[in-house]
Amino acid sequence: NVRTRFAPSPTGYLHIGGARTALFSWAFARRHGGTFILRIEDTDVARSTPEAVQAILDGMAWLGLDADEGPFYQMQRMERYKEVIQQMLAAGAAYYCYTLPEELDRIREEQRTRGEKPRYDGRWRPEPGKVLPTPPEGASPVVRFRNPADGVVAWDDLVKGRIEIANSELDDLVIARADGTPTYNFCVVVDDLDMGITHVIRGDDHVNNTPRQINILRALGAQVPLYAHLSMILGDDGTKLSKRHGAVSVMQYDDDGYLPEAVVNYLGRLGWSHGDDEIFSREQFVGWFDLDHITPSAAQFNTEKLNWLNAHYIKQADNTRLAAEVARRLARRGVDPEAGPALESIVALYKERVANLNELTDSAELYCIEVHPAPELIAQHLSEGARAALAALKGRLEAAAWEKAALNQAIKDTMAEHGLKMPQVAIPLRVATLGVAQTPAIDAVLEVLGRERVLARMARYI
Ligand code: GLU
Repeated sequence: NVRTRFAPSPTGYLHIGGARTALFSWAFARRHGGTFILRIEDTDVARSTPEAVQAILDGMAWLGLDADEGPFYQMQRMERYKEVIQQMLAAGAAYYCYTLPEELDRIREEQRTRGEKPRYDGRWRPEPGKVLPTPPEGASPVVRFRNPADGVVAWDDLVKGRIEIANSELDDLVIARADGTPTYNFCVVVDDLDMGITHVIRGDDHVNNTPRQINILRALGAQVPLYAHLSMILGDDGTKLSKRHGAVSVMQYDDDGYLPEAVVNYLGRLGWSHGDDEIFSREQFVGWFDLDHITPSAAQFNTEKLNWLNAHYIKQADNTRLAAEVARRLARRGVDPEAGPALESIVALYKERVANLNELTDSAELYCIEVHPAPELIAQHLSEGARAALAALKGRLEAAAWEKAALNQAIKDTMAEHGLKMPQVAIPLRVATLGVAQTPAIDAVLEVLGRERVLARMARYI
């Protein structure tokens, strides 16, 4: 029974890298009918905030990554970590170390001067037959894990292949600080154990923690999970994805007018592939997702591809949903979404032409507000002659049935009457009614904008 987890530290937003990790963990659990767990690693009290927790929950909800268990909060599990530390002390798997931080610094400095790799010298580590120093009066010790001294710790990473680390490379890790609080790597181990995690899917910035975590798990007699370390994501320019690349938070993509299914589809292809398939639904992704087709090399972010997917999903989206998205965005701009014609009819007219929901909103806004064409547009397209044509057309429109064919006929008749070409009527009409020179087919625009609005807007230039 597959059990995966996503374990973000709430020190910032859910960013693209985290979202991809969450998506892969979620999809793997879903693919195997398993369980997906959300665990908030909030033990870094100084840097964790409730706002960041909320941002993570919002981001996951937006992407539709529902957890079967959790969110669990590490800060609420302190008693459990302390209990395991006591067990390990009792079993000799961990020991008290009284070396003061200043002393440790001095030891490390000496090691450096001798050209050695700085490491804990093991002075409080119990060994058979070794006499330990007497603990200093009133000192609070840290607790260290008694890492195996020899041999290697190895695992077959499901992305990176076999990884082996000599135990001689690993220090006796501090698992509890002098104030008794457990340390990061230790909490992760206890949680992965208690939560029965079978597959740890996470960023490869944690690959150095894995041998330590495996050793602690073994010391606890636990079954070691399988690990899949995802390589990092590079920005469009090939450098590490960072704030410089604009959208850091997943919710920023919402603000920027992306549909969540476009982002999910995009993230699904970021370091994973299924043949040449670029466009797939959430259901297809879940049906296909495996760890074998994750690329071990870094994935490069490609904004153009994301935009292309977004345009695709906007075309596919149901008009009612797009209208709701546009309404929310109009309201945020201080525009009354009810002030214009039905948003469904507007989005139907524009959804094929836009790359994101904000562009769609820009167009819809023109139907809801009083438009003020730019002076250049007025100068260029609303000359005396153009206004005369508009006046003639207005008369015909007033008499026309308000549907596309009749509106089109009214325009054609006006053209014939004045010896004009289509653009000579259509462009002034666009500028007068929507304040812009380019729009979808003018008869469709007129139909959607509606008789009252069209005639009122035209009247201002006659
Ligand atoms: N809390 C860690 C992070 O946000 C993840 C730890 C893990 O997945 O093991 O980077």
